[in-house]
Amino acid sequence: MNFYIIAHFSIAFVSLVISYIVFSRNRKSIVNITLALLSFAISFWAFFYGVWLLSSNEIQALFWSRMLNLGVTFVPIFLLHWLLSFLGYAKKKKNLIILCYVLTIIFALFSFTDYYVAGVSKINQFSYWPQIGWLYRLFLVTVWVPIFFYSFFLLIKAYRTGNSLLRQQIVYILIGIMTGFLGGSTNYLLMFGYRFISPIGSVLVVMFPVLLTYAVVKHHLMDIKIVMRRYSVYLSSLVVILLIDVGIEYLVGNLFPQYVQETNLIILVGSISVYPIIKDYFYYIANKYLFSSLYDSSEVIAKLSDRLRSTLEIKRIFEFITEVLVEAFHANAVGILIYNKKLHQYIVNYNQGFKVSKQEKFGGDKDLDRFFVKKNQLIIVEDIKKDFKNNKTLKILLKLGVEILIPLKVKSKIIGLVAIGKKESGDMYNDEDFKVLKVVGAQAAIALDNSLLYKETKTFSQKMEKEVKRATEELSINNKRLQMMADRMAVANDQLRKLDNAKSEFISIASHQLRTPLTAIKGFISLLLEGSYGEISKDVRETLNKVYLSNERLIGLVEDLLNISRIESGRIEYKFEKIKLEDVCQEIMDTFVIRAKEKHLKIELKLPENPLPKILTDKKKIREVISNLVDNALKYTPKGWVKVTLLQVADKVQIRVSDTGIGIPAEEIPHLFAKFSRGKDISRINTGGTGLGLYVGKKMVESLHGKIWVESKGVNLGSVFIIEIPIETKEEAPKEEN
Ligand code: ADP
Repeated sequence: MNFYIIAHFSIAFVSLVISYIVFSRNRKSIVNITLALLSFAISFWAFFYGVWLLSSNEIQALFWSRMLNLGVTFVPIFLLHWLLSFLGYAKKKKNLIILCYVLTIIFALFSFTDYYVAGVSKINQFSYWPQIGWLYRLFLVTVWVPIFFYSFFLLIKAYRTGNSLLRQQIVYILIGIMTGFLGGSTNYLLMFGYRFISPIGSVLVVMFPVLLTYAVVKHHLMDIKIVMRRYSVYLSSLVVILLIDVGIEYLVGNLFPQYVQETNLIILVGSISVYPIIKDYFYYIANKYLFSSLYDSSEVIAKLSDRLRSTLEIKRIFEFITEVLVEAFHANAVGILIYNKKLHQYIVNYNQGFKVSKQEKFGGDKDLDRFFVKKNQLIIVEDIKKDFKNNKTLKILLKLGVEILIPLKVKSKIIGLVAIGKKESGDMYNDEDFKVLKVVGAQAAIALDNSLLYKETKTFSQKMEKEVKRATEELSINNKRLQMMADRMAVANDQLRKLDNAKSEFISIASHQLRTPLTAIKGFISLLLEGSYGEISKDVRETLNKVYLSNERLIGLVEDLLNISRIESGRIEYKFEKIKLEDVCQEIMDTFVIRAKEKHLKIELKLPENPLPKILTDKKKIREVISNLVDNALKYTPKGWVKVTLLQVADKVQIRVSDTGIGIPAEEIPHLFAKFSRGKDISRINTGGTGLGLYVGKKMVESLHGKIWVESKGVNLGSVFIIEIPIETKEEAPKEEN
């Protein structure tokens, strides 16, 4: 008795809680409202069932039994209304629902009459068992039983056409209705006089609200097959142990009755310790032979991580992931997409079973990225269908038959996605699957990240290698070319040097040959002018003077040519001695005084206030250079003056030859000291020049460790030629030529 009371109060409590939860989850949904009402009706029934059992007299018992049956009266209509709403047929079957409500209310109105519950009497252990009237029978026949079968029919019909989630829900609902109805019916058997069955099934009514609610409220249902299989394993192992226990007890009881008590203790301890072993064994057997579709999640994960660790090759990784997923879930398709950050696209890199081409690109979806990929959450297409109704990506996923997308993410870096299709069995993916898929995703992400990094480094180093090789080849070709050019240049240089030597040799010989007769001519003319060969007329003297000057110019030219040939062949001789530069300059001035006068030019030597120290240099060469500069100044100055200034600048002396002549344009200055270089149009002023004087002078000054340069403000603004030589030459002066 007490068992029934406690059981029914418990059912009442559980159903009431369920009713409240369902209703508060969504107060507007007709599915929730009707389910809450159904649970409430069951709670109502169970509560008054308990109260009825507690009745102490017939009157009370009759009243409470009528109350409990009032609860029962409302169960079928609420079940029908709920089921039609849940399956989406409520609108279509509106009239049916209304009819059933009307019938129910009529029956309810009569529920306190004798037609419904006639009275109470003692049956078995129940003192006041209700006796039902004809109206109640009518209720059963017209409402309860038809609705029960109609529900069955509706569910089976929906199962055929429904998706995998709905199918799973339907399985739960069917089990709930079956257990609830059949369990509850055990009460009726007693009512109809079948005394041999006690209403024990009444307890099972609790399964009714529990399973229905579970099916509707919980999103990812447990795979009922797995649950049942698991329980069947537990149950069968328990049965085996109990059988063994009973056997042992029977034997001990018969053979050694005195040890029965000790044996019981041993059996208890033994059973408890043996149970897990037997259960594991049964599980193993069952897995192997009965439920091949069951998988062991830890084994799946271990297997994948083992395999992934064995390779860095991306194709192998794709294969491993796919193999494991197909093996564990019997998924009909697996695709792996790699994320391209630049394009913000997912590119199919591996596909088995989906109708997409390889390398097909899918744009990243803002919403899905934000809600799932970034958070590393599985995208379960079935789940998001409602919330992302108009999402384009979702439509594509549905079209392709993708059930789940697993984001592949390492830290904050998105690697890609794994897409999985339906299970071959048609079952839904359940909570346990999701857990496994998450781990698989994490493992796959790390493996792929490593592999991609490895590939990147590899291609980079290969590229580098190629680049280096190419550059080296180019370099060696260029080197070869350069070498060839250098060789050719060397040959050409050699030839040039030979030619140059030959030229210098020629000039040298030619000049020597010229110098002797020219000197002889000079001597003879001097003799003639001096009157050594008798008096000469004025005309003859003038002519002889012209011949003399021409001869002098020729001697100068020959001297220049000889100097060049000596300089270039390195045969020039320098004789260093300490000289007084003031004296040298004075001598030069003396030789030019007459020429200056003839040209009406002022000529002046400006010496420093303090006498210069003696200078270690080649007197002949420095005189030649200065003379040439003064000669030029006189040549290129039509009017004004020519001035030679001496001054000391630190440990050097400067000889500055300045004039008020034609000046030098800036662009000519850089080339002035080159061989045969003459100013533009200069031949109009001076026909006799050769462009050798400054060249020879520069070479000589450099050999005396000095510098020579020119400054001019421009055409007709005069020019200054400056020679700078050290006072003391530190180095030993170059020695003799041959
Ligand atoms: P040359 O005087 O025989 O032409 P140089 O080598 O002595 O050869 O001089 C080279 C050129 O420098 C001259 O042709 C002339 O154009 C320019 N030059 C030299 N000295 C002066 C100067 N004092 N004033 C203007 N131009 C000058």
